[in-house]
Amino acid sequence: MDLTLSERHRALQAALREFIARYGHLSPPVGGGGGRKRPDRKVLDWQALLIEHGFAARAVPRQYGGYGAEPDVLDAAIITEEFNKAGLSLGIQGQGIRMLVPTLLEVGTEEQRRRWIGPTIRGEVIWAQGYSEPEAGSDLASLRTHARVEDGHFVINGQKIWTSSAHFADMIFLLCRTEPDRPKHLGISYLLVPMTAPGIEVRPLPTMTGHATFNEVFFTEVRVPVDQIVLGRGEGWKVANVTLKHERMLLGDSAKLVHRLHRLRSLLAETVVEGEPLLQKPVWRDRLMRLQGEVLAAKYHQMRLLSEAAQGQAQGQAQGRDSGLGLLVVKYYGSTLAWRLAALAVDALGDAGLPYEPHDEVAEDDAATAWYADWMYDLGLIIGGGSSNIQKNIIAERGLGMPREPKINGSA
Ligand SMILES: Cc1cc2nc3c(=O)[nH]c(=O)nc-3n(C[C@H](O)[C@H](O)[C@H](O)COP(=O)(O)OP(=O)(O)OC[C@H]3O[C@@H](n4cnc5c(N)ncnc54)[C@H](O)[C@@H]3O)c2cc1C
Repeated sequence: MDLTLSERHRALQAALREFIARYGHLSPPVGGGGGRKRPDRKVLDWQALLIEHGFAARAVPRQYGGYGAEPDVLDAAIITEEFNKAGLSLGIQGQGIRMLVPTLLEVGTEEQRRRWIGPTIRGEVIWAQGYSEPEAGSDLASLRTHARVEDGHFVINGQKIWTSSAHFADMIFLLCRTEPDRPKHLGISYLLVPMTAPGIEVRPLPTMTGHATFNEVFFTEVRVPVDQIVLGRGEGWKVANVTLKHERMLLGDSAKLVHRLHRLRSLLAETVVEGEPLLQKPVWRDRLMRLQGEVLAAKYHQMRLLSEAAQGQAQGQAQGRDSGLGLLVVKYYGSTLAWRLAALAVDALGDAGLPYEPHDEVAEDDAATAWYADWMYDLGLIIGGGSSNIQKNIIAERGLGMPREPKINGSA
């Protein structure tokens, strides 16, 4: 991976600085409640501006509503860096944009891409992810929500749980069992289902943030046309794993870590205790520097993976590396580190964060309260998208060659 900036990269940097000087004041706030509620007008307008200038959906082809640039790791890093330095939002980062869109680009039909990608990247269509069930979390392939085919429709019955955003989502990408006679991984299909379909009931589940950010979702005789399947019947596990690959990148994203580090540094510089900013006190400086080192390691690890992906993984494979494992490291390390950064901010805020008021949406966009919201919410992201224990199991077994964990009752 060559990190030298070319003339083209420098031109991009200059264009970004000009864009930020001109439009930066239009950015929605970063951190706290943003992204955990339906995007408001300000967020949608900012997203449209970013797409128009190629700073969001940059590598999404033009025919699907994106900017149509060639994927370039350094471009992405420069955009992230400039926005982070200026404290601006990088645009909508939901499950639709970050997980479903790349999945459709990889395995969707042309019709599915044309119908869903444009409205999703613009933030007009919000997606939920219907994977987990009460008896199927870490062991996802045991899921029991099922669908039969009747009159050109899948008819869905069952229950999902921990479904983020389902209370305001327009659509859900849903895993369900359509081939009950096949082995469990081969009996699953991946369907695109409108949340307005009759027979769907959403029951919000409050978290310790005080907000109901995820939900139980019940399906009773829910009908969806058979063409709303991604790939084919029984191929849902394959599709689910494509989505999971992108989920791991989202949940451990180093752009978020770098941005959080910038915010944390400012907080320590502004927080004065006994006449001296915390940033000047050796104990706090030491804690910050250690985290900074880890953030930089996470950033370069992610850049390497992205650069390998852009080169068809040839480089990584030639060097005997498994990029799937690299993504598990991104998820495990990134989600843990994001929480530890927020934890240092909470330590620094001390009493200042105690008036946290979860039901006050405006207060959640306030800088101090946003840290508390991030700290509580991000603890969940260490579990969401595959818990740390599971990531560590796979890294140990596949990466370090340690013995496989024993299977219970002949489970696969
Ligand atoms: C904030 C948040 C958002 C989420 N959003 C969504 C969403 O939008 N859509 C969705 O479908 N799901 C979502 N989830 C669910 C998430 O994917 C599951 O919580 C996760 O996969 C773990 O499953 P589980 O909760 O059933 O726990 P279990 O699988 O029951 O695990 C319980 C505990 O046992 C440990 N454990 C289980 N098996 C093993 C093993 N073999 N070895 C070692 N330890 C093990 C786990 O690490 C965990 O600590 C979300 C979860 C959270 C916390």
